[in-house]
Amino acid sequence: MSDTIFTKIINKDIPADILYEDDIALAFKDINPQAPMHFLVIPKKAIATINDIEREDRELVGHLTWVAAHVLKEHGLAEQGFRTVMNCNEYGGQTVYHIHLHVLAGKPLGWPPYSDKLKIE
Ligand code: 5GP
Repeated sequence: MSDTIFTKIINKDIPADILYEDDIALAFKDINPQAPMHFLVIPKKAIATINDIEREDRELVGHLTWVAAHVLKEHGLAEQGFRTVMNCNEYGGQTVYHIHLHVLAGKPLGWPPYSDKLKIE
């Protein structure tokens, strides 16, 4: 797959507010936050969408969830609750084609999350 803006963030070619990094994953604040705390957890391996996750990637994908909770605990935001979301393709609203776990925290979050008022058929 071709590089995305997230590859540039991984390679430190462009800046990001990094919250956590190890050899597998990176967590950084979203540039357009939708909650008081909104960060993204990405694998360093470039995987375009959820549909491209291979069997061998299962541990890596699980690790993203662990990183989310780890960062939230460090910031005292885990116990009050939070939301993780991974958008996929057009209908899911994905705009960057390098999988990323959105982590939203710091306020009560409405449910359902969509704002398009579309009728479900
Ligand atoms: P998606 O719409 O693909 O689920 O989410 C992509 C997210 O990446 C968006 O929430 C957007 O604000 C964030 N984003 C896009 N470009 C950048 C960037 O250059 N830096 C950071 N920190 N976040 C970005």
